[in-house]
This record gives sequence, C-alpha cells and structure tokens, in this order.
Amino acid sequence: MTTVTLITGDGIGPEIAEAAKRCIDATGADIKWELAEAGVDIMAKTGTPLPQATIDSLRKNGIGLKAPITTPVGTGFRSINVFLRQELELYACLRPCKSYKGVRSRYENIDLVIVRENTEDLYAGIEFEKGKDDTAELINWLNKHSKRQIGNDAGISIKPISVKATQKIVRFAFEYARKYKREKVTSVHKANIMKYTDGLWLETSRQVAKNYPDIEFEDRIVDNMCMQLIQKPELYDVLVLPNLYGDILSDLCAGLVGGLGVAPGANIGDKGAIFEATHGSAPKYAGQNKVNPCALILSGVLMLRHLEKIKEADKLEKAVADVIAEGKYVTYDMKPDRDDPTAVGTSEMADAIIKRIEN
Ligand code: NAD
Repeated sequence: MTTVTLITGDGIGPEIAEAAKRCIDATGADIKWELAEAGVDIMAKTGTPLPQATIDSLRKNGIGLKAPITTPVGTGFRSINVFLRQELELYACLRPCKSYKGVRSRYENIDLVIVRENTEDLYAGIEFEKGKDDTAELINWLNKHSKRQIGNDAGISIKPISVKATQKIVRFAFEYARKYKREKVTSVHKANIMKYTDGLWLETSRQVAKNYPDIEFEDRIVDNMCMQLIQKPELYDVLVLPNLYGDILSDLCAGLVGGLGVAPGANIGDKGAIFEATHGSAPKYAGQNKVNPCALILSGVLMLRHLEKIKEADKLEKAVADVIAEGKYVTYDMKPDRDDPTAVGTSEMADAIIKRIEN
C-alpha cells in the first residue's frame, strides 16, 4: 500500500479531489489517502494557507495529489505552489499534452511532453523594485561594469541559469524519454541573444545529450519553437525548457489539445512529487458540482505511472478517454454547446469513468 497526501484545496478543489480519489480507488491501486488542507478556506479557519501538518504529511509520504488552491492576497506567501516547489525541491515540472478524441481542438493526434525547469530563471524571485536603495546600488554597479546604461526609473529581475540545475532537468527529460519510449528531446532557448544564460543552457543540454545516444536531440530557439508548434506540432516529442519559456509553452501546448479541462501536470524532485491539474481553483464555480474533473484525474494517471502502478494508470487513462470520446456523460465544457442541458456534473462524470473501469 502507498500513502498519498491528498490536498483538497479550495474553490472547485474539494469536488474534483473527491472525484479523482474515487476514480483512482476504482482502479484497485491500493492507495491510502492522507487528507491535508491548503488554501484560502483553511486560512480563514487557522490564519495560515499552508498548515505545517500539510507540509509534514508531504515530506513524510513524498507523494501528493493536489487540487487547485486560490493564491491568497495579502499574506507572506507569494504563491503556495511556488513555496511547495521550493520547500520540497521539486525541480521538474512535467506537463504531457495529448489529444483525446472527443475534446474539441484545432489539432488531432498531438502527443507532446513539456519538461520545465522549476527553480531558476526569471522565476527565481530575485527582484529589485524601482526607486529602492538596493536597486539604485545595483544599477550603479551595473552601469559601472556594463556598456549599457540603466536609468534609475528601472526595476530589475535577475535571470540565473546554472550548469547544475540545467544538467538535472535535461537529464530528467532524457530519462523520461527513455523510460516512456520517446524518440526525441528538443531543448528550447534563446541562446543567440542571452549568451551567458540561455547559451549555458544550450551548451549544457548538448553535453548531457551525449550520454543518451539512443535518443535524438535537437534544439530550437523559443520564438521559432512557438511557430513550429502551431504549424507542425507532430514533429515534436519531449521539449525541455527553462522556467519562463516552459511556463508560456505549457499553456500554448495545453491550447493545442483543447485547453485546461484535460491538462494534467506534475512537479517532481528527488525527494518527492506533487501531481496537480494545470488549471486553477475557478472560485466562481465552487460548490456547484459543475466543472470538469479530468485534468486532476489525468494527473492521478501520471501519479500512478510515477508509482509504477502501470496497469492501474493505463486502465484509468483509457476509461477517461472512452468517456470523453463517447461525449455523453461529460461536463458542460466538453459539450459542443456550453449550455447543453445534457451536460453532467463533476461527480456524475467521475461515476461514468468508474463504470468504465469496472466493466
Ligand atoms: P482558473 O484555471 O481557476 O479558471 C479560469 C477559467 O477556466 C474558469 O473560470 C473556468 O471557466 C475554466 N476552468 C478552470 N478549470 C476548469 C475545470 N476543471 N472545468 C471547467 N472549466 C474550468 O484560473 P484563474 O481564474 O486565473 O485562477 C483562479 C485562482 O486559482 C487564482 O487564485 C490562481 O492564483 C489560482 N491558481 C491555482 C493553481 C494551482 O493551485 N495549481 C493554478 C492556477 C491558478
């Protein structure tokens, strides 16, 4: 038996967490769930959006399935998600983007995997606000050491990219490709302009690639990559990207396969992993049993594969795909007309998926 921390979140979180839990249990995956809270609901009760008990549970179990949480405004947390990634050293963000028959999209047969570096880049949170003393000091230093001059009315964000973190994430991408029998890894960058950060990324990617002769390697400049993904997405397989480009291209690729309702994700490190949907807590739909549970259920599929429960993962993914393809017991967002009265609720869609698993 594997113990998994289930963070029920807030907004639509509790409803989709319950749906995902029921579907995963129906596969017979033998999981013991440890319930934990995070988000604005628990903050209203206890004063913190991320109780120590939740962090402890994640540390102890090393595996979490997390429903979305609203980013609380006006607390010390920039984002609970960013905090958890840093706290548990979850350096890899994995976002498979796959076409499922029955999901409305401009493209068919897409099967891409985005591997995003999670700890560095402009996302590292090293920022200097316009007008502050530290910022003025930094600007003076930069103006002394660089040919370019920065005005005192500028704010500054720092972009660190290190050899160590790049090696780790590129290795992760290749190991993933090898494990899941993928053929190609594409490293994405802007090395022609940012020579000392993206240039380092590209050079490190090339070095790591030499250890994986069985997998094709290529690189693309990020702007060209965006155009190629729109024009010929079928040419790509696993993409590995620094944090910011990874953030942007994850959404682009989610758009290619029909949007947030079917976009699962995982944040993975050496000591643990948290599986979660790409979408947020959609507070306007909270408590209405209305939204699509598939992105969190498919995140559960990723979790089962990570736990080497392959049979159960395949069973669950097939059941989700079948229910979506049939198009009958699906939520409003998957109907051709969003006001379609035959749309079912969150829990009824989960029921249909469970029925498929059991048949
Ligand atoms: P959102 O993803 O919550 O919602 C945007 C819109 O997408 C919704 O109004 C809804 O129309 C649609 N949508 C989202 N999930 C859906 C689902 N499962 N089924 C059907 N339709 C769905 O994005 P937002 O409104 O920008 O963010 C709301 C809150 O969620 C914010 O506080 C944000 O910070 C937080 N957030 C959390 C996470 C996370 O916990 N991982 C991720 C993204 C955003």
